[in-house]
Amino acid sequence: MSASSKPDARRNASPYLYGGEAAAVARVLESGQYGHSDTTEHFERRVADFLGVPDAVAVASGTAALHLALIAAEVGPCDEVIVPSMTFCATVQAILAVGATPRFVDIDPATLCVNGQLVMDAVGPHTAAVIPVLFGGRPVDLTAVRGALDEQGVVVIEDAAHAFGSRNGTRRVGTSEALTCFSFGPIKNLTCGQGGMVIPRMPKDADTIRRLRLLGVGQSQSERSNATTYRVDGFGLRYQMSSLNAAIGLVQLDAFDTTERTRRALWRAYRRALAGLEGVRLVDVDPDQAVPHLCQVRVPNRDRVFADLRARGVGVGVHYPPNHLQPAFAQWRRPLPATEQVAEEILTLPFHQHLTEDDIDQVRAALGQALTAAGGVPCARS
Ligand SMILES: *Cc1c(COP(=O)(O)O)cnc(C)c1O
Repeated sequence: MSASSKPDARRNASPYLYGGEAAAVARVLESGQYGHSDTTEHFERRVADFLGVPDAVAVASGTAALHLALIAAEVGPCDEVIVPSMTFCATVQAILAVGATPRFVDIDPATLCVNGQLVMDAVGPHTAAVIPVLFGGRPVDLTAVRGALDEQGVVVIEDAAHAFGSRNGTRRVGTSEALTCFSFGPIKNLTCGQGGMVIPRMPKDADTIRRLRLLGVGQSQSERSNATTYRVDGFGLRYQMSSLNAAIGLVQLDAFDTTERTRRALWRAYRRALAGLEGVRLVDVDPDQAVPHLCQVRVPNRDRVFADLRARGVGVGVHYPPNHLQPAFAQWRRPLPATEQVAEEILTLPFHQHLTEDDIDQVRAALGQALTAAGGVPCARS
């Protein structure tokens, strides 16, 4: 990409294209096959091979992936789903979409993720599933409580929207016994423009999700094109991934080694740059394991620091306002001290592949100035 078309490095997030995406989309446009097609199935195969899993099912978005995973896990009305309040609202909306109830839980403030203890403390007679959120790309290892969850019939559905490519030990996220849901939205580690993927636990999940994503129609494309009718086997939604989106994903997947390396290097550059800055605590994504999706810090006087950095043109953000404090989810509110505390402190710094180490040094300098201006945090060297 030429320097003149480089997006503003100070943006909070930005997709990164490798150059072949436009031509790949053009080829699909010329083919006339825009919907679910061989291109979508090819992308599924390639993702499954990349992760080292038997199968992967492409869908329209990360939210659709979570919704379909919950249906495949037979979660429904009267069921409770354990979910951290500290997540994007999509996670909660997927729970409501199946008529289930969110049981909001607290997080470890150091990682912004749940752990086995926090999950087990929330398990009750109506718990049907738990959705750990792999915040910032960080793997969440529930192996230690896996047996206890199995015993209680609690299904694990990973919200890995931030975590495509991350590892848990030697294996990629998506290879555990959980149902894993990825998002390929515009700013995720791998983008299809829009899209998502479910990694099924077993062939039955995959069959269910493949039927659900195509309006409940059971036959294959070729069976249907040779018949005068089609067969609706059950409930379904318009949730397939278009070939236009899959074509983008295929190009992104080819370049994922570079994505992985770049995102890790940039996150570590931030860690080095921020090390001497008093009052700033970096949220650890475990970059030896994760393909980092966000770079977050915790700071005092966050609202003032946020406003000051915005005024300086630095694209800071807040991921996320807690869900248990949202008006729509008020009936499931409960005190969550760690979440409420970190919600006042978290600040997301610009993090995307257009950044250079120079940009990171500039963000660091602006952050130091903003902290001083916001009230009395002495800055070591800014
Ligand atoms: C992006 C995201 C989703 C939803 O994915 P979409 O592709 O935008 O539908 C779900 N959970 C988290 C944590 C996300 O960041």
